[in-house]
Amino acid sequence: MPGRRRAPGPIDRRCAIRILIVGGGCAGMSAALHLQRGLRERLRRGEVHLTVVEPQAYLTYHPLLAEVAAGSIDPRHVVVPLRRELTECKVLTARITRIEHATRRAWADAAGPGEPPAPVELDYDVLVLAPGAVSRTAPVPGLAEQGRGFSTVGEAVGLRNHVLEQLDLAATTRDPALRQAALTFVFVGGGYAGVGALAELEDMARYAVRGHHNITPEDLRWVLVEATDRILAEESPELADHTLAQLRDRSVDVRLRTTLESAVGGVMALSDGSRFAARTLVWTAGVRPHPLLRDTDLPLDTAGRVRCLPTLQVLGPDGRALPGAWAAGDCAAVPDPHADGAPCAPNAQHAFAQAELLAANVLVALEGGPHAPAITEYRPGAPVCSTSLGLGRAVAHTRRGGRLTGRRAWWLHRARHLRRLPSGERRVRVLMDWALAGLFAREVVPIGRPEQSAPADERPV
Ligand SMILES: Cc1cc2nc3c(=O)[nH]c(=O)nc-3n(C[C@H](O)[C@H](O)[C@H](O)COP(=O)(O)OP(=O)(O)OC[C@H]3O[C@@H](n4cnc5c(N)ncnc54)[C@H](O)[C@@H]3O)c2cc1C
Repeated sequence: MPGRRRAPGPIDRRCAIRILIVGGGCAGMSAALHLQRGLRERLRRGEVHLTVVEPQAYLTYHPLLAEVAAGSIDPRHVVVPLRRELTECKVLTARITRIEHATRRAWADAAGPGEPPAPVELDYDVLVLAPGAVSRTAPVPGLAEQGRGFSTVGEAVGLRNHVLEQLDLAATTRDPALRQAALTFVFVGGGYAGVGALAELEDMARYAVRGHHNITPEDLRWVLVEATDRILAEESPELADHTLAQLRDRSVDVRLRTTLESAVGGVMALSDGSRFAARTLVWTAGVRPHPLLRDTDLPLDTAGRVRCLPTLQVLGPDGRALPGAWAAGDCAAVPDPHADGAPCAPNAQHAFAQAELLAANVLVALEGGPHAPAITEYRPGAPVCSTSLGLGRAVAHTRRGGRLTGRRAWWLHRARHLRRLPSGERRVRVLMDWALAGLFAREVVPIGRPEQSAPADERPV
C-alpha cells in the first residue's frame, strides 16, 4: 500500500496543522476535548485541523456498565455522542487499520452497515494514539458457544435480560438439574469488568427473587474464577483484599489461582478439579493492548503497549521522544511514579489524567519558540480506588488512606465517576437515573432481546 515515502521533517507553520486522534474513548475523547478548548480560535480560523477516528459514533463509559446491567442507569446515558461534544473536530466513524509514522500517514476503513470497507488515507502532522485495549481470549473448549463478553452496552443489557430469564426458567421448570444450572452464574476474570458485573448482578438477582415464590437468595450460586492470586489487578492490593472479603461475605464462591478448562455442553470444568453445570458463563479474563499497535512502526514494549516517556511522547528507538507522536490510556506504557516506573495500570483514572496532560503538552509543543514553557511529565496524585458492589454497597479508599464500605463508599464511588463522565448533559441524566431509582422499586423484568419477536401466530395485531 505505501508507495512514495517522505521524511517527516518539522511542521510547516504556514500550512494548517493536522492532528489525528486515533480512538474516541476515555483518553481519545478527553484529549480531543482539551485540545478543542485550547485551540478553539485556531480551529475556527482553519490553522489547525483536529480529526478523531473512532469506529463507534460515541464514547462508552465502561466503569458504569455494571450499573446498566443492574438496571440502575439507562443504557443510553453511559455513552457520550462524539459529534455533540466535539463540535470543532472532524469525527470519522471508521477504524484505523495501519499507521506509518515515518511518513505521517494512517489508513482507515470506513464502512456503513453491511457494506464492504472503504479504505481512506489520512495524512497528519501530529498523532495522538488512544485505541485502548481489547479483551483477552483463550482457547477454552466450549467457550465460543457458551461464553458471553461484558465490554459493550449491548452486552450489558443482554446479560441483564439473560440473568432475569434464568430466574424465570428456574421458577417454572420441574427439572432439578435444569433449575440448578439456571441458578448458577460463572464469571471468569476478576478484573473491573468481572467483579463489577458479578457484584451488581448478584445484588439485582437477590432483589429479583423476592418476586418468585419458590426461589430464595441461597438457591443462587455465583462463582468468580481468577487465574492469579488476587482480584482487581488494576487497583491497589488493599482495595482488592477488601473487595474479596466483601464478596466472600456475600457467599460468592471466589476461586483464586484457578482457570476454566472447558465449558463444553454448559458443564464448567475448572483447573481445581470441580465440574458443574451452569447456563451463564461471562468471560472477562483481562485485556491486552490493541492489535492495531502491531500494524504501526512505533516501538512497543514486551506486553505490546506503545513505549512512552513520562511526557506521553512516544519513545523513539534512540531513547528520545519521537517527533509528533503521543499516546495515552490503555494502549500506552507510561511509567508510573507510584509503581517504581512500571507502566501505569490500565484504568480510567490514568486514561483521563494522561489525556489532559497530553493535550496540554501538545499545545506547548505547537506553540514552539524559545519562550514556550517546557512540557510536563505525568505525575498522577495518589490513586483513588473504589468499586461498586451493588445498590448502596461499595468499597472505597480515600486519598489519605481511609477505608470505607457500604453507603458512604458507594456515594464516594458514584461522585468520582460522575465527575469523570466527559459530558455535563450525561452527568445530569445519570444523576436523574439514580434519583429515580431511589424513589421507585427496582425494575427486574427481562424485556427480551431487541431482535427477538413473538412466534408468528402469537404476534399481537
Ligand atoms: C466493563 C469494564 C469496566 C471497567 N470499570 C472500570 C472502573 O470501575 N474503574 C476504572 O478506572 N476503569 C475501569 N475500566 C477500565 C477503563 O474503562 C479503561 O481503562 C479506559 O476506558 C481506558 O481508556 P482508553 O481511552 O485507553 O480506552 P477506551 O476507553 O476503551 O477507548 C478506546 C477507543 O478506541 C476505539 N478504537 C478501537 N480500535 C480502533 C481503531 N482501529 N481505530 C480507531 N479507534 C479505535 C474504541 O472503539 C474505543 O472507543 C473498565 C473497563 C471495562 C471494559
